[in-house]
Amino acid sequence: MIVAAVLFTYAILLSTLTPRLLRGAHWTERAPRLGIVVWQALGVSALTAAALAGLALTVPTVRVSADLAELLQACVMALTAQYASPGGAAAGAAGAVLTLAVLGRTAWCVGHSAVRIRRARREHREVLDMVGRPDTTRGIVVLDHEEPAAYCLPGRHRRTVITTGALRVLDDDQLEAVLTHERTHQAERHDAVLAWAQALTHAFPRVPLFRTAEAEIARLVEMRADDMAAARSGRLTTAAALLAVAGGRAPAVALAAGGSTASRRVRRLIEPCRPLSRLRIVAGSLTAAVALAVPLLVVGGPAAAATQSNYCPNGTPADQVTMMR
Ligand SMILES: [Zn+2]
Repeated sequence: MIVAAVLFTYAILLSTLTPRLLRGAHWTERAPRLGIVVWQALGVSALTAAALAGLALTVPTVRVSADLAELLQACVMALTAQYASPGGAAAGAAGAVLTLAVLGRTAWCVGHSAVRIRRARREHREVLDMVGRPDTTRGIVVLDHEEPAAYCLPGRHRRTVITTGALRVLDDDQLEAVLTHERTHQAERHDAVLAWAQALTHAFPRVPLFRTAEAEIARLVEMRADDMAAARSGRLTTAAALLAVAGGRAPAVALAAGGSTASRRVRRLIEPCRPLSRLRIVAGSLTAAVALAVPLLVVGGPAAAATQSNYCPNGTPADQVTMMR
């Protein structure tokens, strides 16, 4: 019961406090990829803690043994002891409902989102193949449209789309910056990163952590792609390219070079580059690792301690085996 309470409290605190502490943190803009990893780790940690809290209520701790028969018998005896009382049975049932709700809702929303996104991308790709002109030299699809826009449809049958309006206003270096931006989205599978964050928000819309993480990750993947473009084409060239295509619209299932965050990103590229120090990168990586490990350590600690303890109400199976001999 204590393990479940600790995990549940941890999940609540993580879900409510970290968005206030981390939202819009400047250090994430200085190391966008690390920021993405930290937000993802926090989300997975909260989800794991909630699921394990339910599991800890449902399944009592038993002695861990290499002897399968002994382990099973210990499990049965511990379960029988817990569910013999109405309070124990109610707690066990509540824990089972919590775990199944968390895992089931997550799996359903992730699966549903994947199917919906795949269908929408396929439909848009079919339209592109009909109305777009492939430019095999640059590896892009050119769309006849006055509005300067650039976006990519990620996935196995990826497409990088540039409008004729964008080709008219971008010089060669700026076009290269835009293409590097889009290739980064594709190479680092930012679509999958975003789809996971969106699915968690859809599954648990009232959880502040998931809502904030989705917005922050959407901002940070763009900054990460900007950084890769800037490393190749220069920060000012990338900023100018972004300005040129900032107003361009893109389908909801695509990753655009412009978008609502473009003005902040342009300012960021114009400002002096201040990469995060190695020490702070290590600290951020450790934070992500600790966040992922905490729920497992909370559950694993008592389980490990149980290997030295007797949790069976009527003696351990080993004792009974000894007596039978
Ligand atoms: Zn982008």
